[in-house]
Amino acid sequence: MDMMEKLEILTESAKYDVACTSSGSKRSGQAGSLGNAVSFGICHSFAADGRCISLLKVLMTNGCIYDCAYCINRKSNPIRRAAFTPQEIADITMQFYRRNYIEGLFLSSGIMRSSDYTTEQLIAALELLRNEYKFRGYIHVKAIPGADDALLSRLGMLADRMSVNIELPSQESLHRLAPDKSKQSILQPMNLIKNKITENSTELVKYRHAPRFAPAGQSTQMIIGATPDTDYQILNLTEGLYKKYKLKRIFYSAYTPVVEDSLLPSLDTKPPLLREHRLYQADWLLRFYGFEAKELLDEAAPNFNPLLDPKCSWAINHREQFPVEVNRAPYEMLLRVPGIGVRSAQRIIKARRAGTLDFHALKKLGVVLKRAQFFITCKGRPLEGLKVGEHTLLRSLMSGQELAKFQQPEIEQLSFFDDSYLAALPEAGRAASFSYGG
Ligand code: SF4
Repeated sequence: MDMMEKLEILTESAKYDVACTSSGSKRSGQAGSLGNAVSFGICHSFAADGRCISLLKVLMTNGCIYDCAYCINRKSNPIRRAAFTPQEIADITMQFYRRNYIEGLFLSSGIMRSSDYTTEQLIAALELLRNEYKFRGYIHVKAIPGADDALLSRLGMLADRMSVNIELPSQESLHRLAPDKSKQSILQPMNLIKNKITENSTELVKYRHAPRFAPAGQSTQMIIGATPDTDYQILNLTEGLYKKYKLKRIFYSAYTPVVEDSLLPSLDTKPPLLREHRLYQADWLLRFYGFEAKELLDEAAPNFNPLLDPKCSWAINHREQFPVEVNRAPYEMLLRVPGIGVRSAQRIIKARRAGTLDFHALKKLGVVLKRAQFFITCKGRPLEGLKVGEHTLLRSLMSGQELAKFQQPEIEQLSFFDDSYLAALPEAGRAASFSYGG
């Protein structure tokens, strides 16, 4: 098999791993235009300085001794198999890099022979790149569950970022769909990587030139929609992983059926992209907005509202905390107002030291008044002429796409709010609602 054929198979097989962000676009070239795009091969990641960099995303092999039901590379799936040698991986990376196609490498692999053997192959490829070719570009490498700690420690000294995929949100789902893996075999390398990064940061304080262990941290990916796990379970797990293993990112991957299996949704099931999007929004709220998982969902309402983003849903369900007076509210509370983001909250805190803010000033500071207007007052007063009827509120809180769905005939009559919502609005808002209606 020639290199081009191998490359085609092994980049195609890698495209389902979202632990580094793939463009996912597929577009062929046209006469009279320039360029084309394929959904596999090159993915993107963000460097520590915020730059978006392109990576060659490839598997060492798509052969695997495991049989995870959701995976295209599972051993029982009759697909074309290929494998690169460490030398071939190093050579391709260098050739692509020299031609300016890529700035780094995302290397993963199916499990050949054993976890240890596979990890040794990954180490061999990275050692060639780092030591022989003196490649200093970005490398993201997959840690293989079940590999020996000493091997993973060596791997981490060669890579910028490592990831161990948790894959499924619960032990039960893992047991059912990936019987060769165990929670322990996934969490142990995650713990090792976390400890190594912590040890390394202490060494770096003492010795500035000490070798660095996975300086860009670790990440993981979770498949959404292949199992009956709820958003509440997923979000709780997410919160636990961020706290316990200090992950940089958790990537959610809407399950795309690729193999027929009685344990999985049927092949014509569409990937739950909106659910994936809601989980990313909630993940953002956990990391940057001071929310806890239990505030956003609970056992009684375990899934996100498809029509409203998690922050708006929270605000609607906690109307007793509004309106917020922007000239006095603490930073933490400003962050909870729909339409106020981290940047605009910081700008409000700074700007109000110089004087009292009005709605005009808020707009200039980047506040999305279309959303925020229902939840704030300036100098004790709501926005002049504010209408707080159910439909006005919905239209303002939904994005264009959500609104289009809401206006589909079959769900047009859907009501989010019982009348108690309007009745429970704070004085100022209630006056507006009864004056102007919806
Ligand atoms: S171990 Fe990885 S590559 Fe192998 S079947 Fe499972 S998910 Fe696929």
